[in-house]
Amino acid sequence: MNTPQIYLMFGIQGAGKGTQAVLLAQALHIPHISMGDILRETAQQDTPLAAEIRSYIEHGNLVPDELIMPIFKERFARDDCQKGFILDGFPRKLSQAEKLQAILDELGIEITRAIDIHISETELLSRLASRLVCTSCGAVYNENSAPPKTEGLCDQCGGKLVKRQDDSDVEAIRTRIRHFHDTTGQAIEYYRQRDLLLEIHGEQPIADVFQEMKQKLGIV
Ligand code: AMP
Repeated sequence: MNTPQIYLMFGIQGAGKGTQAVLLAQALHIPHISMGDILRETAQQDTPLAAEIRSYIEHGNLVPDELIMPIFKERFARDDCQKGFILDGFPRKLSQAEKLQAILDELGIEITRAIDIHISETELLSRLASRLVCTSCGAVYNENSAPPKTEGLCDQCGGKLVKRQDDSDVEAIRTRIRHFHDTTGQAIEYYRQRDLLLEIHGEQPIADVFQEMKQKLGIV
């Protein structure tokens, strides 16, 4: 069996990590696992767990590890993960990085690379204000820099495009920026110390960010 390829994508929300994760998953023929998408999907159900997850997301707070880890394990156990996967939005804090490491150590699997996409705060606020997300497949657009071909509709599946509720809530955005620096920063450091971190300049056109990433990863 070939060694699974496991890539972790980091970047403040709006940096383009989801977009780059999708491109990398397509190039490598492995699944893109977005924890945010899985949580939003779970949150739509009519269960006490869904209501609990909804309240964390709506307030811009991280969902606790006790809820996140079983969700990750369930996704990780599926057949399509055997060749590897791109993890987007997980781990998001040091405790999650350590728990992920424990799961992988037990299986003798190593992380291939952790990728951190950087953008400035000014660029971030302007991007979030114009971000559109497909309600059906989760594809991400930008009204200014990457608009859909038909206004309001997803190019890929024809689904309806909306602004995410937490993208228009300035307080929620501030909470997310603070969380990112306070908590995700520690997870990024964890991978830097293990020589797994690759830093990418995110304030370039999507294709150029992808090109830089492929080049640095040695993917032709
Ligand atoms: P995202 O789509 O990655 O911006 O995630 C949206 C929201 O889902 C976040 O603001 C958190 O409330 C929650 N979330 C996503 N990933 C995680 C994670 N790894 N741990 C805890 N909460 C998460």
